[in-house]
Amino acid sequence: MKKKLKLLTYGCQMNVADSERMAGLLGQIGYTLTDDADEADLVLINTCCVRATAEDKVFGQIGRFKALKRLKPSLILGVVGCMAQKEGANLIKRAPHVDFVLGTGQSSEVARVVRSLELERRHVVDTSNVSGEIPAEVFPLRGGRVSTFVPIMYGCDNFCTYCIVPHVRGRERSRKPEEIFAEVRRAIAEGFKEITLLGQNVNSYAGGMTFAELLSAVDNLGVERLRFMTSHPKDLSDELIAAIADGRGVCEHIHLPVQHGSDDILRRMNRVYTAEKYLRLVEKIRAAVPNISLTTDLIVGFPGETDDDFAATLDFVRAVKFDAAFTFIYSRRSGTPAATFPNQVDDAVKHRRLEILMDVQNEISLAKNSALVGKAVEVLVEGASKTDEKIFTGRTRSNKLVLFAHGTERAGDLVNVRVEQAQTFLLKGDVC
Ligand code: SF4
Repeated sequence: MKKKLKLLTYGCQMNVADSERMAGLLGQIGYTLTDDADEADLVLINTCCVRATAEDKVFGQIGRFKALKRLKPSLILGVVGCMAQKEGANLIKRAPHVDFVLGTGQSSEVARVVRSLELERRHVVDTSNVSGEIPAEVFPLRGGRVSTFVPIMYGCDNFCTYCIVPHVRGRERSRKPEEIFAEVRRAIAEGFKEITLLGQNVNSYAGGMTFAELLSAVDNLGVERLRFMTSHPKDLSDELIAAIADGRGVCEHIHLPVQHGSDDILRRMNRVYTAEKYLRLVEKIRAAVPNISLTTDLIVGFPGETDDDFAATLDFVRAVKFDAAFTFIYSRRSGTPAATFPNQVDDAVKHRRLEILMDVQNEISLAKNSALVGKAVEVLVEGASKTDEKIFTGRTRSNKLVLFAHGTERAGDLVNVRVEQAQTFLLKGDVC
C-alpha cells in the first residue's frame, strides 16, 4: 500500500526546491504526496527562520500535529530546513511529539531517516554538515506544471549583519555545470517552459565557469524562458549584463536587493556597496537592456535607522523607480551581529515607516504598469485564476502578473495580451 506524505513548505524558493527534492527521495521509498494531513503517514515541515513571524508559524503548525499524532501514533513527524538547523534538539525539547529534526546539510538523508523510524521509533536530530557536499543524482518531484526551480548553488559567504542565512545554510557551494545541465534537460523533457536558476547569491557561482557563462549555456539548451535569483549587487558583472542582453530565453527581469538607501545603514548591514554605486549599476543595466524590469528587497527599522536614513531610502526608491519591491520590517535574529547593535528601532516607528515606504513604492509600481496600457505583452499562461475559472493568469517576461479572459489557451502556451487595465500588482487585458 502506498504511504502518504503531507509536505508543508515555508520561506523562500530555495525551500520550495529543497522540498521537491525531498519529495523525490521519499517517493523512492513509497511515499506519494497528499493535501490531507489526516490521511498522512508522514508529515514533513520544511522551515524558514529569516524572520520571527516565519518561526512563529512553524511552531503553530508543529503544535497542530500533536492531536493528530495522539489519534494516529504511527504518524511520523519531521522538521527540516533552516529553523531545524538553528534550533536542533531544542525543537524536540519543546515539542517531543516531533520524531526527527534534520538540518539543511542533512536533507538528502531524509529517506534513510524515515526508513529507520518506520522500523524503530526514537528521536533523531542531525544538524551536522551544514556546509557539506551537494548530493548529485537527486530527482525532484516537481510541483508546478509550467515553471520550476533548479538550484545551482547553496549557502552564502556574505554575512550581511542582519541575516541568518550563512549561519543556517553554510558556506557557498556550487553544483557542477553538467549536473545543472542534466537537471535542466530533464525539466524541459517533463514539459516545463520556464526555469529559474536558484541560489542565495547566484552571481558568485563558482562551479568551474562564471554565472554569466552558465546562464548562456543553460539558455542554449532551449528552455522557453530562463530566470535567476537572487543577485547581490556587488557581484553583478558586465559579463552577466551582456548575457542577459544577448540571451534568447533569458527574461528581462533582475531581482536585485538593495535593502536600504542610506550609505551608513548599508555599511552597517555589511552590504559592501553605496547607494550611488547601486544607482550606477542600474544605469548600466538599463543602458544595455532598456526594457529590463527591476525588483528589489527593502528593510525598514534596521538598528540605528534615523528619520534621515529612512528619508534616504524613500529618495532612493523614487530615484531608481523599481517595478516592484518586497518591503520588510527588520527582524532581530539571535546569532546575527545586528541583533546586538544598539538603538533598536521602536516597533511603532518601524510599522509607520513600512506603510510610508509601501505607499511610495506602490505609486511607482502603478505608474510603471500604467505605461503598459494599450501595449501587447507576451504572457506565459499558468492556468485558471483561483477565484474564477473563466479568468486565466500568466506572467510577462518582465515577471508581471497578467489576468485575461480565457478562450482556448492552455497552461504552458505563450500568448500575446493587449493590456487594458493596470493595477499596482497586476495587469488585465485580452488575448490579441
Ligand atoms: S547575501 Fe546577505 S542577505 Fe542574502 S543570503 Fe547572503 S547574508 Fe543573507
